[in-house]
Amino acid sequence: MTVKCKIRKDDRVEVLTGRSRGKIGKVKKVMAEKNRVRVLVEGVNMVVRHSKASAPGAPSGKIEKEAPLPVSNVALLCPKCHEATRVGHAFAPPAVGSGKPRKVRVCRKCKEHID
Ligand SMILES: [Zn+2]
Repeated sequence: MTVKCKIRKDDRVEVLTGRSRGKIGKVKKVMAEKNRVRVLVEGVNMVVRHSKASAPGAPSGKIEKEAPLPVSNVALLCPKCHEATRVGHAFAPPAVGSGKPRKVRVCRKCKEHID
């Protein structure tokens, strides 16, 4: 099942609110929960986890990792015009061999198809 979301893995996004506001990064993961979607953005919203050694001799200490952000806190960076944009949808001509039009994302600013 595909996540019904305007942001996808490997998109570049800008953080709009919160501690990491203004930061830009690549989406590592889109996590769909019941009614909300969160995203992990590379290098953004880092938190320090203190890990205990899980086995004797294993390293322990601080691990920095990304904490997920609500998808509503980020905006897609358009690969065409490089601006943070809202995403619309449009139908593109069907791919060869398939009779169905494809639904694609569209940048609301430059109107280019994103994928
Ligand atoms: Zn654009």
